[in-house]
Amino acid sequence: MTEQNRTDLKELQKLDIRIQEAKKGIADFDPLFEEVEEPALILEGDLTTTRNRLQELKLEERRLELATEEKKTRQVKLEERLGSVRNLREEAAVSAELEMVKRALQNDEQEALTLMDQLRKMEERASELEAAFAEASELVEPKRQELLTKREDAQRQLESLREERKGLAASIEPAELKVYDAIRSGGRAVAVAPLTQDGACGHCFGMVPLQLKNEIQLGLRLIRCEGCGVILTAPDAEDEAAAAAKVTEAPPPDEAEEAGEADAADEMEAADAEFEPAVAGADGDTDEESDKG
Ligand SMILES: [Zn+2]
Repeated sequence: MTEQNRTDLKELQKLDIRIQEAKKGIADFDPLFEEVEEPALILEGDLTTTRNRLQELKLEERRLELATEEKKTRQVKLEERLGSVRNLREEAAVSAELEMVKRALQNDEQEALTLMDQLRKMEERASELEAAFAEASELVEPKRQELLTKREDAQRQLESLREERKGLAASIEPAELKVYDAIRSGGRAVAVAPLTQDGACGHCFGMVPLQLKNEIQLGLRLIRCEGCGVILTAPDAEDEAAAAAKVTEAPPPDEAEEAGEADAADEMEAADAEFEPAVAGADGDTDEESDKG
């Protein structure tokens, strides 16, 4: 029963590592979304700026039109007055004012031409940006949808891993689960490690006292490594120990491959040594029987 619990803790750890990887996988989508959306976002920003500037220029144009209207009205009035002046002094004064208004109107005209030119350029720029933005958005949408679908798949996978964990956690003795969760909540990936074949902690490789080692082998109670605090379990089959070591140390890919090959070769030799005599014996029997037959 208790030994069963330790196996469950190991399974729980495997699940938790998968959950962690799944979460990271989901977070990894964020920069991908940004990358896909960025070109359209930049164009959208430029377009907004251009439209705002266009709006300002139109207001400026309207203000200028009103000022020009006012001056034209003033010009008509002054011309009327010029026809009804009573003396030369008055005529000179009205003429001077009329000259000033005419010059101001010429300035307005010049300003209006400059404004029209700016407006035309800004409108061209806005329609260019609109076209570019529409094109970019069209390109973005399918890529964005593809990313969304992939991320939803990843989220569903994470959900099912969490469900699986809930089920497994329910079957583990609460006190042991609490210890396990406390170790992991400290941010450590490894909370459970098997003893190595020569009786060291499979996580920190510190030696475990013989007495404790025996208790761990029997699995009667939960025992933690005195060195690193992980929950210790009986030695794994060789492949599981290798996997645990990978999680702990994460050696460079090349070394890991070489180590894997070496392990495989050792296993082959061991298997040969174990099974060869038996197979030879069986063959011998069969041969004799077929000889007789
Ligand atoms: Zn340890």
